[in-house]
Amino acid sequence: MGSQEVSTVDWQGKHVTVAGLGVSGIPAARALHERGALVTVVNDGDDDRARAQAAELEALGITVRLGDGATLPPSTELVVTAPGWQPDKPLFLAAAEAGVPVWGDVELAWRLRGDNGRKAAPWLAVTGTNGKTTTVRMLASILEAAGLRTAAVGNIGVSLLDAVLGEREYDVLAVELSSYQLHWAPSLRAHSAAVLNLAPDHLDWHGSMEAYAADKGRVYEGNTVACVYNVADPATEDLVREADVEEGCRAIGFTLGAPGPSQLGVVDGILVDRAFVANRQKQAQELAEVGDVNPPAPHNIANALAAAALARAFGVEPAAVRDGLRAFRPDAHRIEHVADIGEVAYVDDSKATNTHATEASLAAYDSIVWIAGGLAKGATFDELVTGAAKRLRGVVLMGADRALIREALTRHAPEVPVVDLDRTDTGAMSEAVARAAELARPGDTVLLAPACASMDMFTNYNKRGEAFADAVRARADESA
Ligand code: ADP
Repeated sequence: MGSQEVSTVDWQGKHVTVAGLGVSGIPAARALHERGALVTVVNDGDDDRARAQAAELEALGITVRLGDGATLPPSTELVVTAPGWQPDKPLFLAAAEAGVPVWGDVELAWRLRGDNGRKAAPWLAVTGTNGKTTTVRMLASILEAAGLRTAAVGNIGVSLLDAVLGEREYDVLAVELSSYQLHWAPSLRAHSAAVLNLAPDHLDWHGSMEAYAADKGRVYEGNTVACVYNVADPATEDLVREADVEEGCRAIGFTLGAPGPSQLGVVDGILVDRAFVANRQKQAQELAEVGDVNPPAPHNIANALAAAALARAFGVEPAAVRDGLRAFRPDAHRIEHVADIGEVAYVDDSKATNTHATEASLAAYDSIVWIAGGLAKGATFDELVTGAAKRLRGVVLMGADRALIREALTRHAPEVPVVDLDRTDTGAMSEAVARAAELARPGDTVLLAPACASMDMFTNYNKRGEAFADAVRARADESA
């Protein structure tokens, strides 16, 4: 059977354990129950919210076990897990011992696609440490401009299961996949896929950089047309080499420089394709201008090239690449300009939750007052600080792991003034902005690019970005 064909599972009477109530667990439990499976949901938590959710599922005839996500129900034939559950949990060890397969939400969606009688749309998949959401949304915009019925789905707010089982029929899906999701998706076979970059992140979950890279690399397994890699990040090309792909599938590179054959790149401010053209030894096809990319920062041009490569692999015409890039608007909290106050720009890149993303945003400005800190997730900051030291006017640190950044600054940028905030209350961000404003000189940029996750002080990176923007706007109003 070809890798893109739909395989059907007979769910009738199959004992399935769904691990984790929540955004992926509840729809998974419902979908499997509707298909005749005997579903048991297990969940660690036992709070009021979990009880209310459990009551709804139980009313349908689904068994729910709260307060014990560790024990595998004895008759289990398949575990379907929420992607965030750590692989070394006792439940998975028990499943491995019993020879029971474990699928994540993506694997389930992949297996269920087409089983409602609708067309099973091919997937164009994107992963990487940073830039996934931006690239997937750019890709969807390009596919739409080409007149294709599509959606940006996956680790992006729209569940794959909903997209696959919903009413709408698609020609192709633009799919964002996290390393966690890939870990639990053994049989996924995308039409084409891109790994944007690889830098240490989530190592506490994966256990090692090797394990993290291996999970990212799964996105290339079984690709039929193109494996898209980043020429500037050889680790992504290594993953292509290691992947087992369909006969005839090509390795396609993207680069901010002039492209070689089978690459997309940039020549004189023009995004060009030297991969999907008739004579790639001699010819290149113009796709768009650098100015068509929003914003035209270097890392974002790389994202645009990756999106263009996947769209071209799917047969999209050059004009649609340009139109799709022009129509694209970036999401909030990603290098978002909030205000200028007294010739100082205030920029919200709250989404920079790791050092690799922060490195990209620090590289985009000449003189910076940097607001950073939060949960480091096992990261180190020496390289980041060394690379940015010359451009730092000052630094304001906050959050649980701020000492790690402060120590790196002491080692590599001892002359840069550092303000260390130890408060974590709701007023903390206002104070951070006020202290940053004191450090800033005309022409500087105050940049929130924390290099850390936000959950020690905020519900998520959105809330952190909003707190920053609110504090900046309040100052702008005062100074107006
Ligand atoms: P993801 O979905 O992978 O988290 P986003 O598109 O939401 O990616 O961007 C996350 C952060 O990474 C943003 O702060 C952005 O500035 C930064 N970023 C975006 N693209 C890249 C890239 N290609 N390389 C490095 N950093 C990037």
